Amino acid sequence: GTTALAVRAQDLGKRYRAKWALRECSFELPVGRVAALVGANGAGKTTLMSVLAGLLKPDEGSAGVSGRVAFVSQEKPVYKHFTAADMLRLGAHLNTVWDQGRAERWLERFEIPLGKACGKLSGGQQAQVAFALAIGSRPTVLMLDEPLANLDPLARREVTAELLAEVEETGMTVLLSTHVVAELGGVADYLLLLAHGRLLAGGDLDELLARHALYAGPKSDV
Ligand code: ATP
Repeated sequence: GTTALAVRAQDLGKRYRAKWALRECSFELPVGRVAALVGANGAGKTTLMSVLAGLLKPDEGSAGVSGRVAFVSQEKPVYKHFTAADMLRLGAHLNTVWDQGRAERWLERFEIPLGKACGKLSGGQQAQVAFALAIGSRPTVLMLDEPLANLDPLARREVTAELLAEVEETGMTVLLSTHVVAELGGVADYLLLLAHGRLLAGGDLDELLARHALYAGPKSDV
């Protein structure tokens, strides 16, 4: 059948000087899925996302993303003298498509003080401002590099739930990276497994588990 694709990568390769960080990476991510890009530190997750987001030029192969991409890197793009409200104003200026309501709702949901300088917010709160900026830009494909890394367990569950609600509401596609396999629970329905710059496995999570005769465990809302 014809499945609409959000992301397509063909033989992607990227090197830093002589060292290949990404090699022969091919996959397709259908629209509306929540995909986890899993790999150890240094596996090439940030490099792959940066190439997909158009921030890095691949040395080999090609990548395509349908529609608008938002990429939240591990370096949070907040200005420490700007308040969260200022950051949203900046988002409104920088994005041709902007949903102030959605961005504000995200901040309210996580009780981020709108009037406080970002430099005075915790790392987790700064991450929430970065998420709100990304959500406000109404992406069709949202890429998040280690989004749960700076959050406490409660915030992790809440961010996960909010992301799934956004996917449900908007039909957007999410690609999030992690090196913590436990974070996959209840979030991703698609898996990309990366090691030393190469894709070891990729595809629908249930299909992959079935193909390798793995037990997914009881269904739960982790
Ligand atoms: P992490 O979670 O630690 O960021 P990662 O899976 O995102 O890891 P990358 O950051 O993409 O991995 O790095 C992949 C490889 O490329 C690593 O070996 C890293 O040292 C190397 N690398 C990344 N960026 C650069 C750079 N700017 N210059 C040289 N080497 C780099």
